[in-house]
Amino acid sequence: MKKWGFLLLLLLCLCLTFIYIRAFFEPKADLPNVEVQVHDQYKNDKEENRRVSENTKKIEIAVEQIYQGNLLLVNSEYPVHQESIKSDVVNLFTHNELVKGYGLLNNKTYLSKDLARKFSDMVTAAGKDGVSNFFITSGFRNFDEQSKLYQEKGSTYALPAGYSEHNLGLSLDVGSTQMKMAEAPEGKWIEKNAWKYGFILRYPEDKSDITGIQYEPWHIRYVGLPHSAIMKEKNFVLEEYLDYLKRKKKVSVEVEGEKYTVFYYPFSENMTIKIQENHVYEISGNNMDGVIVTVYE
Ligand SMILES: [Zn+2]
Repeated sequence: MKKWGFLLLLLLCLCLTFIYIRAFFEPKADLPNVEVQVHDQYKNDKEENRRVSENTKKIEIAVEQIYQGNLLLVNSEYPVHQESIKSDVVNLFTHNELVKGYGLLNNKTYLSKDLARKFSDMVTAAGKDGVSNFFITSGFRNFDEQSKLYQEKGSTYALPAGYSEHNLGLSLDVGSTQMKMAEAPEGKWIEKNAWKYGFILRYPEDKSDITGIQYEPWHIRYVGLPHSAIMKEKNFVLEEYLDYLKRKKKVSVEVEGEKYTVFYYPFSENMTIKIQENHVYEISGNNMDGVIVTVYE
């Protein structure tokens, strides 16, 4: 009888070990499946020559391009330029067709139409996961509103006009109708899944020394794919990510089976860049000194 007891115990131990090992090797569900490949300079040049000899087209880059696009860095050092402000900002309260899957805090919630659609796609996906109590507490703010807010709340809780991402049109504050975002399922869902829809949590808890802003679980920013995925995978905030691109100059990445190549180019006079024919691409400035070109491979 004792023998049987011992064998049973041994079997139980084996089972537990097996379960433990499986859990250890299973991929972490909340991290993106991102394969990042950084190119060394020698290989880079060789490959660049090959690219040039293939069918390429030249694109001229004007200085304004530094201040336009989804990857603009806005913080206390780099303010919003007039030409950076999204041109399709509307009052969502009067555009019911854009307000799907979420509510609005008040009847003056301004946002880029394009961004509202992207946000709506994201919250629709959250709804399928059973998380559905989202509302927008603040969207786009013009310089006058920002100035008023800064005077009311002071420098601990607000930024001066022109230095807030809300003045750009690419950011919004999201709340849960049930509880504080830091505790709400809506906040947790965003933290885990927003990257899939091109959004980032702009001011994470562990990065306030870099962003200069305290933890804001409600403030999200659109940067687009593959950037949001790389940032999530590498635990970068926008400041760190743009710095990384500047150092690496070229990064190839595969996100959930889609391939992209991301290039950084410092701006210069009469600047042209070469892009392979028949490739979809996007250009965005960094609001500092150059442009980032994202090529869909
Ligand atoms: Zn905000």
